This record gives sequence, C-alpha cells and structure tokens, in this order.
Amino acid sequence: MKETRTRIAARTGAQYLEGLRARKRELWLNGELVTDPVDHPLLAPAARSIARVYDLQHEHPDLFLAPSPDDGALVNITHLIPRSREDLERRRRAFEIVAAATVGMMGRTPDYLNVTFACFAGRADVWARRGNERGAENLVRYQRYLRDNDLCLTHALINPQVDRSKPEAEQGGGEVSLHKVGETADAIIVRGARMLATLAPYADELAIYPGSDLRPGDTKYALSFAIPMDTPGLRFICRDSFTKLRPHFDYPLSSRFDEMDAIVIFDDVAVPKDRVFLDGDTIGYSEVITDTGWRAHIMHQAFTRAYVKLSFAFGLGHLLAQTTGVVRFDHIQEKLGELWTMVELTRSAILAAEAGATLDEGGVLCPDQRPFVALRATLPKWMARANELLQLIGGGGFMLTPSHADFHGPRARDIAKYLQAANADAEQRVRLFRLAWDYLGSDLGGRSELYERFYLSDPWRMTVLAYQLADKSWPSEVVRRVLEWED
Ligand SMILES: Cc1cc2nc3c(=O)[nH]c(=O)nc-3n(C[C@H](O)[C@H](O)[C@H](O)COP(=O)(O)OP(=O)(O)OC[C@H]3O[C@@H](n4cnc5c(N)ncnc54)[C@H](O)[C@@H]3O)c2cc1C
Repeated sequence: MKETRTRIAARTGAQYLEGLRARKRELWLNGELVTDPVDHPLLAPAARSIARVYDLQHEHPDLFLAPSPDDGALVNITHLIPRSREDLERRRRAFEIVAAATVGMMGRTPDYLNVTFACFAGRADVWARRGNERGAENLVRYQRYLRDNDLCLTHALINPQVDRSKPEAEQGGGEVSLHKVGETADAIIVRGARMLATLAPYADELAIYPGSDLRPGDTKYALSFAIPMDTPGLRFICRDSFTKLRPHFDYPLSSRFDEMDAIVIFDDVAVPKDRVFLDGDTIGYSEVITDTGWRAHIMHQAFTRAYVKLSFAFGLGHLLAQTTGVVRFDHIQEKLGELWTMVELTRSAILAAEAGATLDEGGVLCPDQRPFVALRATLPKWMARANELLQLIGGGGFMLTPSHADFHGPRARDIAKYLQAANADAEQRVRLFRLAWDYLGSDLGGRSELYERFYLSDPWRMTVLAYQLADKSWPSEVVRRVLEWED
C-alpha cells in the first residue's frame, strides 16, 4: 500500500536562510547598502541564531508541530489560534524553548508575530466592523499564508519621534508619520516612516498595525497591512551593529544575538489591496488592539520570554556569588532572593493568566490579561533592577576579564594564577563574568535594558492602563463597608 506522508509546512533553518537570501531588501547599515544579510559579517550571526530557532521545531516536533485546521499540514503551534487550555499551555512551552535558545535576548523571534496574527485572525469579526469585511478577509488569508509558509515578520507600530506633544498628523507638517497618499485600482500608496522595526535584516515581510490612538479626522494615518521586505520603495536604516566579531568566549551573547533595530521609510510604496487590513477607520485602529485580545496573547509570549530571561539572570547571580564566595554573606543572599522573587512572580502570573483564560466571542481562548497588565507595569523596573543586583553581586569582577587572546598569549600563566576564584579556575571564572557583562553591560546589554522598557510601548502609559482596567468595585466595596461600621 502506498504510504501518504503528512506535509510539513514548518521551515528548517536552512529553508529560512534560503528565503532570506531571495528577498533583496534595501537595508542601510553604517552607510553601506546591504541586500543580503546572510553573508554580511555583522548581520550573519543573528541570522544563524534565528535559523537555529527554526530548527528547534524539527528537533521537538511533538511540542512544536500540529496539523493545520485547513489541510492537516504540520505547522508551528504558535501560528494556531488557541481554543483550549491545552493549546495555551503547549504554546507556552514552545515559547519557553524558543526563548531559552537566546536566553531571552532576542525579543522578536518569529513566535512573537505568529501569535499576534493568530489572535487577529481569531477575531476577524473585530476587523470587519464598520464595513471592513474585505480588510478582515485579507487578514485571515494573510495569516494562513504566514502560517503555511512559516514566514518571519518584523513590525513597526510607532511613528517617529518628532514632537510627542502633538498628534500623528502634525508630526513634521504631517509628512513624517506613515500615511496614505493615493490609490490605484490594485494598490494604496503610502509614504512616511515608522520606528522601530526590530529584526528588519532577518524578516521576510513587514507588518504594520496600530500602536497608538488617532483623532477621528486623521483617517489617512489609520492603516494596517503587510508587505514583503523587498517591496519597491521600502527602505530600512539600521542603528549601529552591536554584533561583536570576536570569539564567543569574549562576547557570548553579542557574537550571536543582535536582532537589530531599524527605522522604516516608505517612499511612495504601493501596497496591494489584498494586503490591506485597515484603511481609514480611526475607530477600528484602536479596536483591533483593545477588542481582539491582542494584549493578553502577546504578553503570553513576551512574558514567557521574560521569565526565561529573568531565570537566566538569577542563574548568573547565583553562579557569580558562588564563584567568588560572596554567597556566604546575608545581604548577597537577600539580593539573590530578590532576583528569584522576580522569576517566581513572573512564572506565577503566566500560570494565573492561563488559569483565568476565557473563551472570547470569536471562540478563541484568551489568557486573563490582569496578571499580565500588572506585570507589564513592573517588568521594565525588574529587568533594570536585575542588572543592578548582578552588578552589586559581581563588583569589580566584571572588569577582571582578560580576553580569549590573553588566555592564549604570553601572560596566560599570570592569568591562571591571579584570576583564580574560590570555586572556579581562571578560565571558568572569566567565562562566567564575561557572559554576565555581555548580558548587562555591553552595547547589546544596554540595548536589551532599553528594549525591556519600551518594546511594548511606554511602561508609564501601561501603568496608567493598569489603573484604568482595574476592577475597582470590590476594593471600593471593602472601604464602603468599613465606613458603614457603627461608630
Ligand atoms: C530596542 C527597541 C526595539 C523596539 N522594537 C520595536 C519593534 O520591532 N516594533 C515596534 O512596533 N516597536 C518597537 N519598539 C517600541 C517603539 O519603537 C517605541 O520605542 C515605544 O513605543 C515607545 O515610544 P518612544 O520610544 O517613541 O518613546 P516616547 O513615546 O517618545 O517616550 C519617551 C518619554 O516621553 C514620555 N512621553 C511620551 N509621550 C508622552 C505623553 N503623551 N504624555 C506623557 N509622557 C509622554 C514617555 O513616558 C517616555 O518617558 C522598540 C523599542 C526599543 C527601545
């Protein structure tokens, strides 16, 4: 009998890199036009790291791969719309393995936008409001395309900083923020810019969806669409590369995980109409963020990554303290306890969000957003505090860090003798301290701290949102009851 094989839609790392090479984007790095990041010395290391993430799904097929609801082909679980608790838990385990591969230093691994589009497609009814049925159909079709081709996306939600005290339409005379300037039979024409597109060198396509509210009249700014990275007129200007072309020993993270950030410029880009999800609906521009459950879904991914990253920070702290013997001091243990508390509260919030998940109107199982909103306000402070705690534990040891070349140079014997530690030889000690420094103090470490503050928009506004979303009825009732106590 002829054996029928299930098609595997999930890509391997090699297939991902091949796809990246095929899309000749316009990407500028330090004055140089780079069309192929895979072969660029500063960009290639992170391309390989993302390829590694693609390979993971083939190394753990039982966890990562599941049949597509359309044709049964095996797709990555993070593309699927969660319908049950089991779906959510399985998805979280996949996030965790992906995050562990980069110790949480890459925030925008493909699962981030897979989850976003899965939850958007699960609530196509929200996108279809006010006569946008065609946009909603485009979005559902696009999500299937993304899933079935296992693409890697970048996204840019925020218009550039010109004058934050003014609305989008008044930034640089209305010309800077991304906006629509025209239309043909088949396409809309867009102009302007957006910040930031992390992963720009490594993505197959760029997704634009809302990241702020708009005034009712500012319809030309109310846009959502997705286009390939090699679309004519699409241009990316990168910040400095933080990749270190040094042995992994010297910069174990910077030599692998600089996911890069870029400003995106749209020089009269034609966006095919079948790739437009929203065009001109300023109310929809807010609702597709508030009413699709996006916040809860994206924080499910983002905070699982944060949990892995904080676990890594706690592990670093523990090993640093063991290495130089300072672990015996009470106040160092208190600092380690503080680090662990962050890990545990993050883990607990994820489980609480899953436990409180409810089926929404689209039949999507949406995590309870309350623990996540609370955590969103807190995590940026914790990430910065974790770095501070690690500094306080490691002290000047972060500067006692000769390089790989020194270890193999004329002073190797001095290094072996004078850099020994209570619980490690010189090489083990320096390897560990260099890793910790790359986590918290290198260019990449500094970028990572900034990322944690702003990647999900401004934490200040998120804390305000925490108050606005909070259920005030029970706390108010508790106070009211006390006020009613007899004098
Ligand atoms: C490393 C990094 C990577 C990122 N990657 C992406 C990505 O891939 N895709 C994406 O879409 N986004 C990404 N972001 C997020 C995004 O680009 C913005 O950084 C984020 O939305 C915050 O906006 P902003 O940086 O312009 O800060 P601003 O909004 O300019 O805020 C700067 C300061 O001004 C204050 N402020 C601003 N406006 C007001 C106001 N109206 N009232 C009171 N205070 C105000 C803020 O509280 C803050 O303290 C990334 C951010 C970083 C740092």
